[in-house]
Amino acid sequence: MDITGTPQHEAWAARAVPPVEQLRTDLWSIPVPMGGPLRYVSVYAFALEGGGLGLLDTGWESDEGWAALTGGLSSIGGGIEDVRGVLVTHLHFDHLGLASRVRESSGAWIAMHPADASAVARLTAAGAATLVATEIEFLVGLGADRSGAVDDVGPPERMEGFTRMAVPDRLLEDGEHADFPGWRMRAVHTPGHTPGHLCFAEENTRLFFSGDHVLPRITPNISSTHNGSPDPLRDYLASLATVSQDEPAEVLPAHEWRFRGLAGRTAELSAHHEHRLTELLDAIRGHPHSTPWDLAAYLTWSRPWEQYERRMRIFAVTETDAHLRLLASRGLVTSSGGPVPTWTLAAR
Ligand SMILES: [Zn+2]
Repeated sequence: MDITGTPQHEAWAARAVPPVEQLRTDLWSIPVPMGGPLRYVSVYAFALEGGGLGLLDTGWESDEGWAALTGGLSSIGGGIEDVRGVLVTHLHFDHLGLASRVRESSGAWIAMHPADASAVARLTAAGAATLVATEIEFLVGLGADRSGAVDDVGPPERMEGFTRMAVPDRLLEDGEHADFPGWRMRAVHTPGHTPGHLCFAEENTRLFFSGDHVLPRITPNISSTHNGSPDPLRDYLASLATVSQDEPAEVLPAHEWRFRGLAGRTAELSAHHEHRLTELLDAIRGHPHSTPWDLAAYLTWSRPWEQYERRMRIFAVTETDAHLRLLASRGLVTSSGGPVPTWTLAAR
């Protein structure tokens, strides 16, 4: 893998947000800051034939994020009112968050894959209290004790942002081209990180916009969710295989830095998950009849399990559950069934 986003990589080392960069005559990346270890989302701005701008992703919804996005656009000689359309790789808040403000200020359309669009419609219709209750039930089903799950999920106020996300007004299926005049942005459906995650292959420049599907440093979170795919890790590994067929000129991810060598990176990501699957099988062998919640504690994480902050613990457990589901669909483990399934090695 060759790093091509050198200013982004240098900013990373300096723990700073990188500069706005002009990547081609008519293409820019604008970093929009967010909390947490990822620090920023790269929003891509495209000058469209006939005038106006197209955006890929929008950034985390916050006043600071809005200032970075509008400031970034004015630094390239544009403004939010020039935005004609917004492509969103997936429904997560750091990608879709600012889309409603962009639409209100510009009248731009917003396009997503139907699977994530319907998930957004469900989230916004449900209301924060329902989202909290649903997530608590889901975690209890994975083996959390109820009061722990209540604390881990937190109060409904934490969910309110999600209920105000923009429901898209256009849908993009796999293989369709986005309405970005002058560009040939082909949508590539890459389920796994979310059911409707989209990458975009730009066919004139051979640039590949990978969203969160392929990142250069971290492995994207692949988790089971209430109402999500029955086997998200299987989806993800299949999506990695799909995008590794054709080596693009450059990969432009939504976080971290641009790079070259997509096939090499997808091979590393697949190997990472196969390694985790083996580790999980060993944990089940050593601790049969365990819930996903118990099993997560037997795996190695980037810090000691006891120090995991609540929200991180949820991700770890739902990610463990995604790995269990793939082991089950490979016939290697079986579940007890029932409201709180436990797992054992399959009889061979
Ligand atoms: Zn993201």
